[in-house]
Amino acid sequence: MRLLSEKHDIEYWQYSKQANIVYLSTLASYIFILPLFYIVGNMMIFYINFYTMFITLFVLYLNRKQRYGFASFIFITMVTIVTAAETIAFGLISGFQLFHLNMSILIIYTNWSTKHRFIGVVIQALIMMATYFYLQVYPPLTEIEPIFLNIFFVMNVLLNVTAVAHSAYYYENIAKRNRSKLEEIAQQDPLTGLPNRLSLNQYLEKPLDQDYKGLGVMMIDIDHFKKINDTYGHLVGDEVLIKVAQLLKQSIRGEDLVVRYGGEEFLIIMEMERARFFREKAAKILELIQNTPIETKTKTFNISVSIGAFYNCCNVEMGLEESIRNADDLLYKAKEQGRNRVVNSEAIAR
Ligand code: GH3
Ligand code: MG
Ligand code: MG
Repeated sequence: MRLLSEKHDIEYWQYSKQANIVYLSTLASYIFILPLFYIVGNMMIFYINFYTMFITLFVLYLNRKQRYGFASFIFITMVTIVTAAETIAFGLISGFQLFHLNMSILIIYTNWSTKHRFIGVVIQALIMMATYFYLQVYPPLTEIEPIFLNIFFVMNVLLNVTAVAHSAYYYENIAKRNRSKLEEIAQQDPLTGLPNRLSLNQYLEKPLDQDYKGLGVMMIDIDHFKKINDTYGHLVGDEVLIKVAQLLKQSIRGEDLVVRYGGEEFLIIMEMERARFFREKAAKILELIQNTPIETKTKTFNISVSIGAFYNCCNVEMGLEESIRNADDLLYKAKEQGRNRVVNSEAIAR
């Protein structure tokens, strides 16, 4: 379910939002340029552009209805025809042919198949060349004063340069968003919503900071969890895992970290001033799990956990990785000693 909504989100930014910006800004520039066509006296281009505004409104409507592919097809076809007509009408120096480059980029960003996008780009190049060679042979349809040619040229350069830069910038942002979203998904356990083991990497690499208080690491493993799975099925087991994850999450402070380390193993990392506080915390968690009936749709369970609680107050050399290993060894001892208990690291004075 999650992945589906992510897909929808990406689709929204990629096809809907960006396309909408393009269509709206095109509409705005048509409105702006229309009087110019009237003044220079090419009524054919004037009327073409006039109707183009309504087509663009239709395209905006299609886009709203999520018909992204169709909307971009109509839009690109329309702009291509108008661009070719304007180029022939006013000549190369007017700069209208730059829109073919612009359309090539928009084609790449549509949701069409690779083949169709390839064909689209080739068509843009062919039309651009065709109008170029046409103008080698024939003069532009409309003679206009140099001042208007200059206005058209400057306007077309500005519109196309900004549009191309904007598209590139926009897609770079989408790529960044998608990347960070994927990173987020990759570091989260989909069942419990807790950070997963992968998310620990960022802490493993980080050296302990200067005002290092003392670090407590608890490795927590549900006792005889396999029995629940074997007797009531995996889905019931999943429900238990979710509930345990919630309990653990509730029992830590905001700055602490609880991670789903493996199947039914959880890791808690907390900075603590004193070993005594950390031990009390571990004992509290043991008690909480033991005393909280775990309700599932099938049955209510009374479960217990075993905890290896390793506390390091003073050894700045010891990294998180080693602390986790030590906590794991202590957990193993807790299992050996009969489960449902905390085994703490050797008392460390402070
Ligand atoms: P112990 O007290 O020694 O820890 O016994 P245990 O049964 O809890 O430990 P064991 O390692 O034998 O079994 C762990 C079980 O956890 C086996 C595996 O199928 C189950 N498990 C791991 N991940 C999941 C999961 O995501 N969902 C469910 N339902 N079960 C899982
Ligand atoms: Mg277990
Ligand atoms: Mg285990």
